[in-house]
Amino acid sequence: MALTDRDYAPPQTVDEALARLEAGNLRFVRGEARFPTVQKEVLAELTRGQQPYATILGCSDSRVPPELVFDAGFGELFVIRVAGNVLGPSIMGTLQYASLHLRTPLFVVLGHEGCGAVKAAIASRFDGSQQAGRIEILLEQIIPALDGLDPQAPPAELLSAGVEANVRRVVRELLETPEAKARMADSGMRLVGAVYELETGSVRFLD
Ligand SMILES: [Zn+2]
Repeated sequence: MALTDRDYAPPQTVDEALARLEAGNLRFVRGEARFPTVQKEVLAELTRGQQPYATILGCSDSRVPPELVFDAGFGELFVIRVAGNVLGPSIMGTLQYASLHLRTPLFVVLGHEGCGAVKAAIASRFDGSQQAGRIEILLEQIIPALDGLDPQAPPAELLSAGVEANVRRVVRELLETPEAKARMADSGMRLVGAVYELETGSVRFLD
């Protein structure tokens, strides 16, 4: 399928941005993804600057590449990937850059089913398992999100609940930042959580 200029024109509103992601994921799920080979006129256009319409904070997991999952082209998504899609100083700095300089209207915290980082955090929180030092520091970012989960639940259910709780906690923390408060008040900026389903390839946006 040929890409038109319209496909590369940035969405004008946050609703259009979200609709663009949803439509891209639907193409991906249906096996109709375009995975565009970028033409040289597009590359030339992109040398003038970037105007991504969404910032995605996702997991480093090799099975969840945001550009492919949303069937998005070059210059469309500003992507941060870190195990467990957690926050931390460098991540916050990157998000602040996206907010203040790129002014992407849409921010998505994208967790995924079967997340190894969340699984390790659950094992640490409920079974007292230990990881190497720097991994422990990473898990400390996830563990507080697990409060209130039922450790007696079947493992798959517990992991699924942990993944969603981790996404929701990161969203809540980001909503508390002064930048988010200011941008939510003054413009059509939106921050949403989402969970990618490994089996179906589908992204479920959370309320
Ligand atoms: Zn993961």
